[in-house]
Amino acid sequence: MIEQDHLFYRLSRAVCILCFQPRAIRCTPFQGAKIVTRYPVARAAVLYFLLAAIFQPAFGKDKVDLLISGGTILTMDGTHRIVENGAIAIRGDRIVEVGPAAQLRDRYEAAQLLSAAGQLVMPGFVNGHNHAPMVLFRGIADDMKLSDWLQKYIFPAEARNVNREFVEAGTALACLEMIRSGTTTYADMYYFEDQVAEVTAQAGLRGVLGETIIQFPAPDNKTPQEGLSYAERFIKRWKGNALIEPAVAPHAPYTNSAETIRACKELADKYAVPVLIHVSETQDESTEMRQKYGMTSTQWLASLGALGPNVFFSHGVWLSEDDLGLIKKYGVTITHNPESNMKLASGTAPIERILALGIPLGLGTDGAASNNDLDMFEAMDITAKLHKLILKDPAATPAEQVVEMATIGGARALRLDKEIGSLENGKKADLILVDLNEAHAVPLYNYYSHLVYALKSADVRTTVINGKVVMRDGRFLTLDSKKVIERAREMQKRIAASLKN
Ligand SMILES: [Zn+2]
Repeated sequence: MIEQDHLFYRLSRAVCILCFQPRAIRCTPFQGAKIVTRYPVARAAVLYFLLAAIFQPAFGKDKVDLLISGGTILTMDGTHRIVENGAIAIRGDRIVEVGPAAQLRDRYEAAQLLSAAGQLVMPGFVNGHNHAPMVLFRGIADDMKLSDWLQKYIFPAEARNVNREFVEAGTALACLEMIRSGTTTYADMYYFEDQVAEVTAQAGLRGVLGETIIQFPAPDNKTPQEGLSYAERFIKRWKGNALIEPAVAPHAPYTNSAETIRACKELADKYAVPVLIHVSETQDESTEMRQKYGMTSTQWLASLGALGPNVFFSHGVWLSEDDLGLIKKYGVTITHNPESNMKLASGTAPIERILALGIPLGLGTDGAASNNDLDMFEAMDITAKLHKLILKDPAATPAEQVVEMATIGGARALRLDKEIGSLENGKKADLILVDLNEAHAVPLYNYYSHLVYALKSADVRTTVINGKVVMRDGRFLTLDSKKVIERAREMQKRIAASLKN
């Protein structure tokens, strides 16, 4: 009969730690038993500590930086998998594994543990259209049409107030609001975009940020040529940053010449960065474009060679079937901004047609001056209800579809869906923990329904971006919230005074 090596012999490469014999000498269970019998207590103690000290790390757990466990995980992956009592292991900026909590706790040893018990763990929101510093114009002028609002209030207020300091203070306030309400990525079009990027990176938020190019003198650049030079420097500075993706942002077809639009697209193509642009926001824009060029905004952009898969439209309210065909043909994406469109009575984007055509569709808040907040929970709620009302169909825009638009759909619309938008092994760790214990969250039959119709942005307890916890249990870890708010109040005084002159 062949005797088997005993366990301890097999575990050690050099010597049998039970018999302390060189590995060359075969030790058997029989010999092992003899030795244990000879010095039972001493052997047992030595064995215990040796095994614990030597073999635990080698046979033990994989090291990760962060283990979030105990909550319900809404992955938003291809099958919309939901893991009850799940966990997420994170190393560096990426998700190592999503799975059942018991399994992951056995498998991983984490430097930082985060309990998600009683909470929903889901991908952070992707706010596809924003003008972050405009939070400082929150409520400055409401209840009027876009052209009056822009010409009489926003453009003059911008001309008198927008400088580096304004942009820094406004972006910090916007980042605070976005982190608080569960946004982990946002797309931005504004001026002094270098300052937007600096503050966004410091806050730990992910941003697709574009310097605005416009035909008339802007607060930072007096001509479109200067704007384009600024944009090129901006792209060179930020390209390759872990959090910031630089972009070019021609304001709109009706506020730029053909030459400027072409130059923007060429610049974006040269550096393989996105073009962010407002398109077909109002009926006035459609009328103006038809009068000026005999074309829709989309047709005009197509005629200039300015459409492509790196072009992201915001709004798309007044799109014709022909426009939608061009958008589909050139691989353009769209971000829907229902609150801004409603507040300015711009109209309702044909999102059912957009989705039916398979055009990537995200959700945005637009700037806070036309919303008046950066709350993606509200954007979801309003999207779901608005289209039911417009289409007179309560089955339109179901909750799950809207959550998709705010997460993985938004990631697709920014062409970032390989990296963010869902909780999957290997993706960037951008996620939020949402409390499910307030009165308005009970009872709970369907997570998507709750996210769209019942939960509030204040239910977000913890926000993680790029593997880093930026808000934990409502406490901000990258921004001094008190200072940010105080500074914004100081800016308000200056802005109010500037409008009196
Ligand atoms: Zn906008």
